[in-house]
Amino acid sequence: MDYIDRHGTAHGFPAADAEAQVRADDRGHVFHSWSAQALIDPMPVAAGEGSTFWDFRGNAYLDFSSQLVNLNLGHQHPDLVSAIQQQAGRLSTIQPSLANDVRGELARRIADVSPEGLEKVFFTNGGAEANEYAVRMARQVTGRRKVLSMYRSYHGSTSTAISLTGDPRRWANEGGDGSAVRFFGPYLYRSAFHATTQEEEGARALQHLEQTILLEGPATIAAIIIETVVGTNGVLVPPPGYLQGVRELCDRHGILYIADEVMVGFGRIGEWFAIDAFGARPDLITFAKGVNSGYVPLGGVVISERVASHFDRVAFPGGLTYSGHPLACAAGVATFEVFERDGILDRVRDLGARVVEPTLRGWLETHPSVGEVRGRGLFWAVELVRDRETREPLVPFNASGPDAAPMTAFAAAAKQGGVWPFTHFNRMHIAPPLVISEEELVRGLSVLDEALTVADGYA
Ligand code: PLP
Repeated sequence: MDYIDRHGTAHGFPAADAEAQVRADDRGHVFHSWSAQALIDPMPVAAGEGSTFWDFRGNAYLDFSSQLVNLNLGHQHPDLVSAIQQQAGRLSTIQPSLANDVRGELARRIADVSPEGLEKVFFTNGGAEANEYAVRMARQVTGRRKVLSMYRSYHGSTSTAISLTGDPRRWANEGGDGSAVRFFGPYLYRSAFHATTQEEEGARALQHLEQTILLEGPATIAAIIIETVVGTNGVLVPPPGYLQGVRELCDRHGILYIADEVMVGFGRIGEWFAIDAFGARPDLITFAKGVNSGYVPLGGVVISERVASHFDRVAFPGGLTYSGHPLACAAGVATFEVFERDGILDRVRDLGARVVEPTLRGWLETHPSVGEVRGRGLFWAVELVRDRETREPLVPFNASGPDAAPMTAFAAAAKQGGVWPFTHFNRMHIAPPLVISEEELVRGLSVLDEALTVADGYA
């Protein structure tokens, strides 16, 4: 693997001059997300292919984060690259009010894999915008304003999406109009309801949600938004029946159900949409990331007949210049072709059940710092603790700097071993590209196994 510069010139590794220029430009002029600008030093990345990317020194990293759980088909997938190149050669952009072949085909294919009754797609440029628009639709249709969301959720960083987010990232943005109301979702390992089984946790979480609805006033609530499997905040798989219970509560109170599938949609747990595994039918599904592995920014909302028909004779108040961008949609259509041809959903289910799950369950036996493992498909969390009895997290909630040292040391050991991990607070998440080979998966897991001995040192 070489570093190919933008003029097409190949440089062997190490490419020290090129690295210095990237670093200087970045530190001089790029303002980064979610960071204190003076305290960061982002690693320059030279190249990527499949499940691996390289720095400018030639170090290879197995990508166990999929670049924010985004790159479902891996780096530089030839089918996606060629679809974008071909589309750029015939029609690079077209405004949303005109019809276009790839936009229409992608919408049809998404509708085909959506739950029955969800037939229309509104395209956005990413996940937060998708949630913004889903909420706007829900408010227009119901004439109500409040939206309920979970503590321990992430819905994006635009103004409505961050107000619905249930983690510390929203704190700096607090001060909305009071229409965002949060509730506790199911999380048996740290149950807010003193439950001891998944069934109990699910049932009590539903009672709590119903109480919240009743006390907020059902007639004021437009929608409930839920990540089908909570992602960044812990890979929390809902207990059996929970999401069906949410659907029933929504029906009883005239509330719309928005499933946020930005992270789990398009194969992450081995389903087109994760909701297929839980038997509930939302009114709106939001997606992004895996729809085209982020090669060109794309997101959207899948819309039920009930919501769509409201706008049959009433104009929908909203739109984006790049809605349904042809380059992004061409990559989306190619994504469907690759999924179908290569049996991606089946391989995700197989690798998850046969390779990842038994390995992680084994860590419960061998690593004192591993408190719980949970997940499905190629989407797992390993919760690290100081003490298994008390479940005290390995680092305090929302820790940073020296307080986060045990997790920083664990992540450094993983990188040293050639795996790029996804860590958040006291958890490691496992979310490699869905095209990862079995050999790479096993190798990466064994590097993480080794790195966990560093975490064990703090337990
Ligand atoms: N919703 C969920 C569940 C997410 O995980 C994310 C991003 O990680 C978003 C929404 C926001 O998506 P974006 O960063 O594309 O705006």
